[in-house]
Amino acid sequence: MKSTFTKREISQRWTVALTTDGWTPISNFFLENYHRLDPALNHPEALLIIHLIAHKWDEQAPYPSISRLAKRMGISTTAARKHARRLHEKGYVRREARSAKSNAFHFDGLFAALERLLPLKALREVPCPKCKTVSDNSARFCKSCGTRLQVDNEPALDSHEEMAF
Ligand SMILES: [Zn+2]
Repeated sequence: MKSTFTKREISQRWTVALTTDGWTPISNFFLENYHRLDPALNHPEALLIIHLIAHKWDEQAPYPSISRLAKRMGISTTAARKHARRLHEKGYVRREARSAKSNAFHFDGLFAALERLLPLKALREVPCPKCKTVSDNSARFCKSCGTRLQVDNEPALDSHEEMAF
């Protein structure tokens, strides 16, 4: 099912015992940028997304039971349903009712919203004036040669108003 290479890699990141039940791939871009989404995700909503993604194996919409996810998150089913409803209202996770079955959850809204933030990636990268090594614009000095980077005039990326799309 999963390649030996990938299995070894995840067990090195955690432990062998902790990964025998599997793992969940989470996009680093999601982890680094969900706080920039507008409307914002709160932490329980972001965590619920991770729990939902744990049930998503491919392009198909997952349909885990919300009460089971609630138990795993240590919250009531009512609270988990509220987070799922808010995610739906914010346009990130669309719930599809299936007759006599658990809802399916579609992520097209979330994925599109995150992809709209992708231009930020280019803005975040600052080339060194001396050696051209690219650093994140949170860096004050070039990671390669130590030259001071001119990043003070870069747009403030934490502000939604200044995003360039
Ligand atoms: Zn440099």
